[in-house]
Amino acid sequence: MKTHKLFLVVLASIFFIGCERDHEPIITDDVIDNIANQNDDQPSASIEQRAIQPVILGKQKENPYSVQNMQIALDSLRAYANAVGDDELHSNAGIHTKSLNALTIGATDLYVRFLPQDSAGYDMLTQDSTLELFSYPLDYEIVQAGDYYLDPSLPDSTYTWLYAVVKPGYQPPQGVAYEVLSNLFLIENSEGYTEEVITETEESAQTKSTGSSPKGVIDNNLRRALVATSFVLTGNGGELRKDESSAPGNPLMKRQVTTCKRSCILWGRVCWTSCNTRYYPEGYIRVNTPSGNVGLKGVKVRTSRWFYYITMRTDASGYYSSSSSYYDDILIGNSANYDIFFDGANGSNSWTFSKTLFGALCFWTSSYGAGSHSPNGHSMTFYTNSDYWGRAVLHNAIYDYITYARADGISLPPNSLDIASKESDKLTSSAPLLNHHFDYSYFTASMIATICAGPLGVWLSVFGWLASPDLILRYNKTLNSYNEITAIAWHELTHASQLQRMKSENGKSWASGYWSTIVYQEAKNELTKETPYASKGGDDWQAIALAEGWANYRQWDLARRYLRWNTLTYRDWSVSTTTPEIHYSITNANHFPYYFAGMFNRLRQIGCSSANIEKSLCAYSVTGFRDNLIAKHPNLRTQINTIVSEYE
Ligand SMILES: [Zn+2]
Repeated sequence: MKTHKLFLVVLASIFFIGCERDHEPIITDDVIDNIANQNDDQPSASIEQRAIQPVILGKQKENPYSVQNMQIALDSLRAYANAVGDDELHSNAGIHTKSLNALTIGATDLYVRFLPQDSAGYDMLTQDSTLELFSYPLDYEIVQAGDYYLDPSLPDSTYTWLYAVVKPGYQPPQGVAYEVLSNLFLIENSEGYTEEVITETEESAQTKSTGSSPKGVIDNNLRRALVATSFVLTGNGGELRKDESSAPGNPLMKRQVTTCKRSCILWGRVCWTSCNTRYYPEGYIRVNTPSGNVGLKGVKVRTSRWFYYITMRTDASGYYSSSSSYYDDILIGNSANYDIFFDGANGSNSWTFSKTLFGALCFWTSSYGAGSHSPNGHSMTFYTNSDYWGRAVLHNAIYDYITYARADGISLPPNSLDIASKESDKLTSSAPLLNHHFDYSYFTASMIATICAGPLGVWLSVFGWLASPDLILRYNKTLNSYNEITAIAWHELTHASQLQRMKSENGKSWASGYWSTIVYQEAKNELTKETPYASKGGDDWQAIALAEGWANYRQWDLARRYLRWNTLTYRDWSVSTTTPEIHYSITNANHFPYYFAGMFNRLRQIGCSSANIEKSLCAYSVTGFRDNLIAKHPNLRTQINTIVSEYE
């Protein structure tokens, strides 16, 4: 039992140690006053400064897109056509009676919801790239845009309903509760829809069929009449565009408005203005940094209204745009919801911030509800007083790291890296890499079941053991900590790259065993010696020295090159150019294992490549590393021997 207890405490401490730095973050004057005085020169733009907040819903709206309500709208149009005749119908709405008669309403899409029962079900849903999931229902008024939704009908549930639009015949994954909320008729998805205006001669060729409408029976005029009628009859007429002025928006946007036309049918009861507007959302997502506002790179931007949505991804300058257009140009312009998702991608490498710890609480959120804006697009900038500033900084740090790793020939971190971020005064972080690489044999099921105390217990009970993150990265809300937050993320990512390199060089089992050794030993050291790294000569000191020395070297080197900042002195490179081999002393026991960063810098200076050093780290001893490196750089044998011998 005693052994078990030790294991449990060791396990618990894994999450809170690792790569610890013995300093406090540099806190200087806050920049909030400066922010208040800044003006973004983009017209359709906002400065994001709020705390995390829930979505608050208003009343449920009657669904104008349901098959039932669309059928009622169509019946109303047919009755109107019969009463006024084809000429008046055409002059009022640009449509003909024959088109109305040929139209068949049927389910083109299904509005559904899922309730995961466990993390496996949740992962199945979120990893299905064909599903676009919403954490809030799509047919309610949104009183407050937010980042997560707490369903009042599920007060104690770990999971909440996830809403989506799927095609008829969709088969939900097993082990997930599933409900079809409504059969939808989304006209653009109907076989009968065409963007061409239907002329009377073409129309006469159409005949009413059973099942779905024949091709080319619904044109834009009929779509508008049907949608406008259904919106009015379901009490949503307020969402129709009333004036003929163009929607408010950014003049830089590529939205194109041609002519606006006012149409009225059903004896003035149903009126709408259509402007032939094509909405191509675009804009910039940015984050405030000491060197100004920079693009938030590789994040997903989603804009949606009712059951329509467009997803886009920002490029390296934070710019996003859509090549496909928004429909429903008869709806008011300023009515699309915007969400930012912190699941990033840089080329084929991806990561997600899905498991985020806000204080002691856990929310299933990776999104930021940016509110309702023009469907032309919206630009926004995260400032330090936003709860999302730190996450935005970390996000960019990961994106940049992947770019730099490619350039340096360093292994990329594991794909689909799962990251937890947490606001913390102390910027310690760690790289347990549990999802992808941990050797579970160290921890039996009985041990896991016994864990119930403290934040870790809460965490495990919420996420489940197997759903733990790969990296835990921390941030504060201080602009002056920007460099440090970024550099520490690069340190942890260097560990992730090293582990991935071990997998590619020696196989997953070898890599998992090696990494388990380091994580276990650092945790044990933390318990017994109050420092994760212990000292030279301690258990597994060589593996710890190699991994931590390498990560400290890379963190220093990347910060020097890309931030012009010295991680050793926390000062700008212009005033502080000290190197690890000067800053740390091999003979100072307190400098273990940091002085190993100096060894790697010296090896780089004599011409060893970063890629070869990383490959050579597949070794449990310093001499093993040395021999690996000499095999890759035989011409540098003497110099490598001389340098490494000082560190053995
Ligand atoms: Zn480390």
